[in-house]
Amino acid sequence: MSKIKSLVRPHILALQPYSSARDEYSGTEGVFLDANENPLGSAGASNFNRYPDPYQHKLKEKLALIKNVKPAQIFLGNGSDEAIDLLFRVFCNPNQDNIITMPPTYGMYEVSANINCVAIKKINLTPDFQIDTEKVLAAADQNTKLLFVCSPNNPSGNLLNRNSIEKLLQNFKGIVVIDEAYIDFSGEESWTNSLEKYPNLIVLQTFSKAWGLAALRLGMAFSNPEIIALINKVKPPYNISQLTQQIVLQSLFSEDAKNEMVAEIIKQKKILTEELGKISVVKKVYPSDANYLLIKTENGKKVYDFLVEKQIIVRDRSKVALCEGCLRISVGTAQENKELIAALQLYHS
Ligand SMILES: *Cc1c(COP(=O)(O)O)cnc(C)c1O
Repeated sequence: MSKIKSLVRPHILALQPYSSARDEYSGTEGVFLDANENPLGSAGASNFNRYPDPYQHKLKEKLALIKNVKPAQIFLGNGSDEAIDLLFRVFCNPNQDNIITMPPTYGMYEVSANINCVAIKKINLTPDFQIDTEKVLAAADQNTKLLFVCSPNNPSGNLLNRNSIEKLLQNFKGIVVIDEAYIDFSGEESWTNSLEKYPNLIVLQTFSKAWGLAALRLGMAFSNPEIIALINKVKPPYNISQLTQQIVLQSLFSEDAKNEMVAEIIKQKKILTEELGKISVVKKVYPSDANYLLIKTENGKKVYDFLVEKQIIVRDRSKVALCEGCLRISVGTAQENKELIAALQLYHS
């Protein structure tokens, strides 16, 4: 049994997955009377009467070129959130296995664990939001299946130290999930380049941030073909709609547009960082490798409420570990950022 197989829930290894009409016949020409579709067309919108490609071949082919991986190393989910949930269903036995998260971090790891009845070991990041590698490794036991590493980390915004991540990859016996939702804003090399070296590595990315396609819901998981095949076994057969597949494929040919937006957001982030630094209620602006800034204020909830009254909505993170008084602010357009600064200048505690 491979090392990966020994981490998989036994009934998933044995699972006979649903075989869709498009699994049993994958040709594109012919008279299709196999999926109970409407042969006449679509009501209202046009040409959505046929089920979509369950494995999104065209999309993965183009994406593989951009990401420098093989199509068989890619899983596409209805948002990264679907990929996260599927990882629990593949690897974690409810009421038996556990995962490790490193607060403060993205909330979905914990929610997905709770939905799936999987225990969480929380090992806080250090006060400067870096990994406490020794503690993380010491916390792992035989039932620790997943370790979530978010870099750049949400909500702190910083990249996690590469050497620390490497140490986890080398020593943790379960699956290391590196969430790179914000990698495009960071200038850091993606961990997808280390997939061959670490069979227990899964890298998550998303179309929701840099690509500006949050409404379509498309998340990516990159790993070795063995893990990708396991996730595919568990996923709903037609999890990515035809519309999403079409539009994201088009977007992949506009990588320049994505890069230009990323450059503009990084430019605005620099301006916003400087302007926030001049405001008295802002005690600290944390360094950010992402498209948002974490700021420390005297009273997070009060500043949040004040901004809401001015119809400016930020994220109150003041109740989160290590984030007392903190707000997370997405970098907006130049105009939006000006409005934020103008509003904060009016705040008096
Ligand atoms: C926004 C975000 C995602 C993206 O989730 P989607 O479901 O793909 O929209 C994933 N991870 C982190 C840390 C995020 O902040």
